[in-house]
Amino acid sequence: STMLEVSGLNHRYGAGEKAHVAVNDLSFTVETGQLASIVGPSGCGKSTLLRCIAGLVKPTSGRVSLHGDDVSGVPEDLAVVFQDYSRSLFPWLSVAKNVEFPLRWRNLSRSERRTRAQEALESVGLSGVGSKFPWQLSGGMQQRVSIARALASRPALLLMDEPFASVDAQTRFELEDLTRRVQRENGSTVLVVTHDIDESVYLSDRVLVLSKSPATIVADLPVGLPAE
Ligand code: ADP
Ligand code: ADP
Repeated sequence: STMLEVSGLNHRYGAGEKAHVAVNDLSFTVETGQLASIVGPSGCGKSTLLRCIAGLVKPTSGRVSLHGDDVSGVPEDLAVVFQDYSRSLFPWLSVAKNVEFPLRWRNLSRSERRTRAQEALESVGLSGVGSKFPWQLSGGMQQRVSIARALASRPALLLMDEPFASVDAQTRFELEDLTRRVQRENGSTVLVVTHDIDESVYLSDRVLVLSKSPATIVADLPVGLPAE
């Protein structure tokens, strides 16, 4: 079934002579259980597209729907992992509390919230560090915490915006492998935007290639990895 449908999406910053078209008439769908990536040069409009999908930016025109429902505001069954983990975690909360944080607005008991946070930390290989604070962890570990926080809410769609661009190469490989494993285990639907073509091919089942600004799809490629 179709998880995400983007149709005729346009986004323009500013108005009149200073208007800048960031996304130009984009349409595509992502199927449930797919790990898709969107790759394109820096400045082509990837983040804008992802923010429109997340409901963080209201597109100038067009439509985004998640399993058939229009996305307006930040929907509950969607989670986003950003590049800048150092600004996305609360420094005054422990790792476990950070992961639990988005669950506060769910109708869940305290113990259920704790259990979910613990499970999410386990799935990213960080079960032992729940009582530490983010600043006590390496950059790669902090980004894992961000991923765990996104997973804890069990999103129907996980969006990732240049998620590994701020970590070293070795850590990036580990986090890419982790993302693939977690995605397979949970059958999650994941959409990653990146400027790194190698990363998109290594990571995903499908690569959507965007042109230079304004973003338009120039290729939609299945990526076949040999079975493990
Ligand atoms: P990418 O993620 O591919 O690097 P962005 O979506 O961040 O691209 O940006 C696409 C274009 O829109 C760029 O030219 C950028 O300068 C412009 N842009 C992004 N955000 C804003 C904004 N808030 N106001 C005006 N222009 C913006
Ligand atoms: P390692 O060789 O350290 O065990 P991995 O198991 O993560 O690394 O990767 C297996 C192979 O895939 C390595 O040769 C590595 O260079 C390559 N690889 C991993 N991630 C990427 C990537 N993003 N782009 C291109 N090649 C990659």
